[in-house]
Amino acid sequence: MQIIDNYSFAGKKVIIRVDFNVPLSAQYEVTDDTRIRGALPTIKKVLQDGGSAILMSHLGRPKSGPEEKFSLKHVIPALSKLLGIDIQFANDCMGKEAVNKSAALKPGEVLLLENLRFYTAENKVKSDDEKAATRVFAEKLSTYADLYVNDAFGTAHRAHASTTVIADFFDEGSRMFGFLINKEIKAMDKVLHDSEKPMTAIMGGAKVSDKIQVIENLLDKVDNLIIGGGMTYTFIKARGGEIGNSLCEEDKLDVAADLVKKAEAKGVKLILPVDQVLADKFDNDAHTEGADIDSGKAGFMGLDIGPKSIQLLNEVIMNSKTILWNGPMGVFEMPNFQKGTVSIAQTIAESTAKGAFSLVGGGDSVAAVNKFGLADKVSYVSTGGGAMLEYIEGKVLPGIKAIRG
Ligand code: AMP
Repeated sequence: MQIIDNYSFAGKKVIIRVDFNVPLSAQYEVTDDTRIRGALPTIKKVLQDGGSAILMSHLGRPKSGPEEKFSLKHVIPALSKLLGIDIQFANDCMGKEAVNKSAALKPGEVLLLENLRFYTAENKVKSDDEKAATRVFAEKLSTYADLYVNDAFGTAHRAHASTTVIADFFDEGSRMFGFLINKEIKAMDKVLHDSEKPMTAIMGGAKVSDKIQVIENLLDKVDNLIIGGGMTYTFIKARGGEIGNSLCEEDKLDVAADLVKKAEAKGVKLILPVDQVLADKFDNDAHTEGADIDSGKAGFMGLDIGPKSIQLLNEVIMNSKTILWNGPMGVFEMPNFQKGTVSIAQTIAESTAKGAFSLVGGGDSVAAVNKFGLADKVSYVSTGGGAMLEYIEGKVLPGIKAIRG
């Protein structure tokens, strides 16, 4: 497999799948440039070697055809500022302009293609006809460049034209991962295959159903499995606790009970919160009460973990050498229910300072570490929520397989 670190891009045209799916304001300004910054090392390497870069991405979920609010031209100012050069743009990723501008691109220059998802061939890949259209679309993109680099970890779990199919049109020596994907894989593999013990996984968020496979796979790897957030209550109800109006997936009670048994059989300590903050409505200004975790009541819902849980979980985290965190401990978007999540995030940062390796991933836990200013105090923050979870589930991501062959 070709490795970007050792490769010289001098005189080469490189088509790079980046993840520029960034949030935009009502005035179409980039409000968070994290993903653009994530792609810079790869783009800079190509340019500094004396190559040229053709950048392709999706932005949002256009239904069919171009929509102003999903145009990638809106990222040009932010990208241009970060790279310190002018950026060329092709208004249609399949049009003559894209063909001509990529053909005329000189070393050191960057061409950004318009949103790939303005063509359904990019990401509609169910029927045979759709798959055929996707191949044609991917092949055309491949003709713009000598080399293909995939650096969009956030879409590596999708078998789309630009993330997977296009790799078929480049031989093994002409396709590779960018620096960002390499870093993501390294961080995940360290946690999954080369972790220092004790290892603790902290799974929070709303639903058990989203995370069953992840939890199952982690049971073979971790010493401690902490469950928090809304999904706690399915476990509590399954063991006979009273949960009042707290979030619960009735059809997953058996699954929760089964996971508890499996953890026991594998010698994994499954740790549930012991207390909670109850609220009489789903509102920051709700009336609140503290209660044991099994003592919910009608008309109240648990929206955060309580002080005893915080202490219990913090002890486990401080004694861990490897930490994986996905999902908040409560409704952290509301200031009155963020304490559990803030505290866990701070303790992960402290444990990291003491030498633990910590990987934080999944949309909401990443939003939480950013919100609390702790992103640079953990070992690695993953840029791909869904992709990271699928990798941890043990799935082979199509975008990764396409490069490795
Ligand atoms: P997920 O996308 O599954 O990681 O879930 C994240 C969402 O779960 C966040 O928006 C949280 O507000 C929400 N959440 C966390 N704890 C609770 C809870 N106890 N009750 C309801 N929602 C929660």
